[in-house]
Amino acid sequence: MTGAEDRGATPKAASLHTCRANEALASRLDLSDERCFDDARRGFIDTLPNARIETADGRAVWDLSSYAFLEALEPPDSVNPSLWRQARLNRIHGLFKVCEGMYQVRGFDLANITIIEGDTGLIIIDPLTVCESAAAALALYRRHRGDRPVRCVIYSHSHADHYGGVEGVVTPQEVAAGEVQVIAPEGFMEAAVSENVLAGVPMRRRAMFQFGPTLAAGPRSHVDSGLGKTMGRGTMSLVAPTMTIAQPMETHVIDGVEIVFQLTPETEAPAEMNFFFPQFGVLNLAENGCHTMHNLCPLRGARTRDALAWSKYLDAALDGFIERTDVVIAQHHWPTWGRERVRRFIEEQRDLYRVMHDQCLRLMSHGLTPNEIAAQFRMPASLEGRWHARPYYGAIAHNLRAIYAHYMGPYDGNPAGLDPLPPDAAARKTLEYMGGADSVLDRARRDFEAGDYRWVVEVGRHLVFADPGNRAARQLVADAMEQLGYQSESSTWRNAYLLGAKELRLGAPKPGPGAVISRKVVSMLPMGMFFDYLAIRVNAEKAEGLRLLVDWRMTDEGSRHRLTLSHSALSHLPGSHGAQAMATVSTTREQLAAIVTAGKPLAAAPETGLLEVAGDAAMVRRLFATFDEFPSNFNIVEP
Ligand SMILES: [Zn+2]
Repeated sequence: MTGAEDRGATPKAASLHTCRANEALASRLDLSDERCFDDARRGFIDTLPNARIETADGRAVWDLSSYAFLEALEPPDSVNPSLWRQARLNRIHGLFKVCEGMYQVRGFDLANITIIEGDTGLIIIDPLTVCESAAAALALYRRHRGDRPVRCVIYSHSHADHYGGVEGVVTPQEVAAGEVQVIAPEGFMEAAVSENVLAGVPMRRRAMFQFGPTLAAGPRSHVDSGLGKTMGRGTMSLVAPTMTIAQPMETHVIDGVEIVFQLTPETEAPAEMNFFFPQFGVLNLAENGCHTMHNLCPLRGARTRDALAWSKYLDAALDGFIERTDVVIAQHHWPTWGRERVRRFIEEQRDLYRVMHDQCLRLMSHGLTPNEIAAQFRMPASLEGRWHARPYYGAIAHNLRAIYAHYMGPYDGNPAGLDPLPPDAAARKTLEYMGGADSVLDRARRDFEAGDYRWVVEVGRHLVFADPGNRAARQLVADAMEQLGYQSESSTWRNAYLLGAKELRLGAPKPGPGAVISRKVVSMLPMGMFFDYLAIRVNAEKAEGLRLLVDWRMTDEGSRHRLTLSHSALSHLPGSHGAQAMATVSTTREQLAAIVTAGKPLAAAPETGLLEVAGDAAMVRRLFATFDEFPSNFNIVEP
């Protein structure tokens, strides 16, 4: 018996209630409909065995062999049958021809890479998450289509699965020399770096629950991530754009290929754009129109997305391009061919986001609060049966709550919620009123037997937060989360529930000193954003009463900044404090990156010799002594 089994960590079978729920859904869906599978396989040219991609030293960054269990047509009891279908579709991988001159490599990463043949070379849209996967995709293409040079890279939007692998297809030197153009939507750099820098630590931890990277592949564990199988694990990179699309519609001819760029800010990402290719009759909807209901706020956390704008941009794309469109593609999932099918697809995607938005606001206007709206909303029957409108990545209830928050913020308006006790104190009080933990556990077990898993996890949360050492409670909540995971059509909900169950059974992974931001990111970050990043590390208690005026010089870039620490807040402006400066720090970008990624506490930076200090060095040490270290992991399902 392994340690894991010893502690009851082995995933359990689907309960009778779960089997019934999954069967009931299966009976409402036309699972014999194979059109998406035909589309996903159409134009197949070649692939790598199991899509296995390795680093130079042989470590797998991607390998779909552990998902061979998805070969089975019939879903197991422990997987929602609709999600099973999507998981099978997302296992199809390789190089595919979209049309003459346009190719996609799919299933080598979470996202797709799109390769377009220009007059003299290639235009690449979205070089995946990691360099190894992007390089492998390009090599596979070249094996069949010849060794054409890359002329242009386009980032459709500011999420890492669409740019992180860029150095797998071009070098920064080629870009700097003007040999390769890099095009991105306006606001790309700011969105790309701010999402992963300022809120990077909690987002990374929460993303584990969204994607389930610590869950093994298996029918009682990880099956999919809705948009694709999972996230690639390899080398990430970022090359800044050389050209930005800033107008609502811009047309450019790139290496002989006409591209109409449609800017779609604040949709699926803060900076995003769709593309139309008149000579190919192809419309690329980036990540605004995929074969799933998308997220209006991912479980990892993000600024909520604008469902209304999203719907309107899809309507504008339909209006502007449909009469010349024969294929719609996106940077996830497979194409849809044929004008009438494309028209219907875009209309339904448009209406999907619009109906959630409008009905949420209608119900809000009747006084309903987020969970009441989630309980009352019904998807129109005409959209219910459409595969691409089903919630494989997003989830309806979560999306409705996101729309509410987009307009109203986190407060539901009831003053009873203005000043709640923190979770552990609230839990202890609740249990006390409910007759104590044993009595609550006893009743929760009966609700578990009755299949009322939603309520068991809700009341069980109090049991765990009041006493994280209550093993019986942890097991019961884990069991209930597991059944909810098995029933979830949304892959992200499934991953979250199953990782929640795992961490209740085994505990959270031990916190380690995580590299908070990568060397690459530090080397590209606008200095203002770097100081914002320093500012969020100031521990207010340690900074209590301090007033420090420090000048900061970047000797390699020639920039000067003045930092002011007062009232435990670190502000910065360009320029110098002049005679008032207590000290001046001089350094270079390279040295800064070395300090931040050294794996040593930031407080020790003044002693590393990487910062040159003139004036009162003690003031600089006091400033650095206020900086917190962040753990790579923290508890989520327990206090
Ligand atoms: Zn994506």
